[in-house]
Amino acid sequence: MSVLQLKGLVKRYGGLIATNNLSLDVLSGEIHAIIGPNGAGKTTLIHQISGAIVPNQGQIIFNGVDVTTLSMHERVKLGLARSYQITNIFQSYTVIDNLSLAIQAHSGSSMRFWRKALDEQALFKQARQLASDIGLAEHCNSKACELAHGEQRQLELGLTLATQPKLLLLDEPMAGTGHEESGKMLELIAALRGKAAVILIEHDMDAVFKLADRISVLVAGSIIATGTAEQIRQNPEVKKAYLGDE
Ligand code: ATP
Repeated sequence: MSVLQLKGLVKRYGGLIATNNLSLDVLSGEIHAIIGPNGAGKTTLIHQISGAIVPNQGQIIFNGVDVTTLSMHERVKLGLARSYQITNIFQSYTVIDNLSLAIQAHSGSSMRFWRKALDEQALFKQARQLASDIGLAEHCNSKACELAHGEQRQLELGLTLATQPKLLLLDEPMAGTGHEESGKMLELIAALRGKAAVILIEHDMDAVFKLADRISVLVAGSIIATGTAEQIRQNPEVKKAYLGDE
């Protein structure tokens, strides 16, 4: 079953066509990577799905709802979330406080939460569970600014998961991380499989081939192929246009 259907998306910047009549189905619970050379239109596509920009033509259907013109906030409420940037983390707050705030912000009930001790406990429990899901159980009481870069990326993932997304947009989650850190991130993303669909943009091809259930290859604003890692590796057109003949 599709969680996301992109139908004929066109985005123009002046005379340049950044996405060219792009159509794609993302299935519930799958990890779907989008790869392609620099300037292919990956970021433009993610911006259109998240609602940061509106396509000139085409439709975006999320869980059967036409979200093409909805704001980012309205999309998040429906369960379509984009990974936050580290800049959205409150650096002087602890991991648990950052996660609690994100959970409250999504539930939209911060006042009610703080009025009831029971709810406060429930919130704390939820935040602890989330910290554990993102591999930061040991760091609950560390301030965000004390975390290593890779751990901050994990926290960033936690802030997004706090919105309980059905579809998660991850834009280069491994960028700037070391070998060990990217291995950890890879594990965390793999653990999302089946719980939420993930659209992954990542330049680290090893990570993409390990993680993705399916891969779409974007070249000059058009998807030239969609398939499993093996199908994409073997696809002559993809080899020619992007991966290079090895
Ligand atoms: P990279 O891998 O380098 O991040 P990308 O695949 O994400 O590239 P985009 O950033 O989506 O590609 O860019 C697609 C095309 O649209 C490029 O030619 C780019 O120069 C152009 N473009 C992107 N944003 C704008 C903008 N705001 N104004 C004008 N042109 C833009």
